[in-house]
Amino acid sequence: MASLQDQLRGLVYSTEHGETCPACRQPLAECRCDERAEQERLAALDGIVRIRRETSGRKGKGVTTISGVPLPEKELKALAKALKQRCGTGGAVKSGVIEIQGDQREALKIELEGRGYTVKLAGG
Ligand SMILES: [Zn+2]
Repeated sequence: MASLQDQLRGLVYSTEHGETCPACRQPLAECRCDERAEQERLAALDGIVRIRRETSGRKGKGVTTISGVPLPEKELKALAKALKQRCGTGGAVKSGVIEIQGDQREALKIELEGRGYTVKLAGG
């Protein structure tokens, strides 16, 4: 148990640095959690891009997810934007996974293979 003095010092420390990251408790300006998460994600990839259709808990045709794309978040978002335009539909990027609305598996496979990726259709 930290002494009251230490607790107060901690409090002063965090307030004088503005907002802190809840995960690493560093000031947000010095937080590297996103970077680290991204590096871990990229390090875990096997070079295969997986396309999967997911319908559970979703209305209509569900979404097509693309995981394993070896790109940092920023470029992943740019790729997602291009794919959405290609399919003429909406989508999003969540935790390194691109989601495209509807069943776009074939179109996405062709598009990604055209960009030089090794693509596998996974699941049903
Ligand atoms: Zn952090």
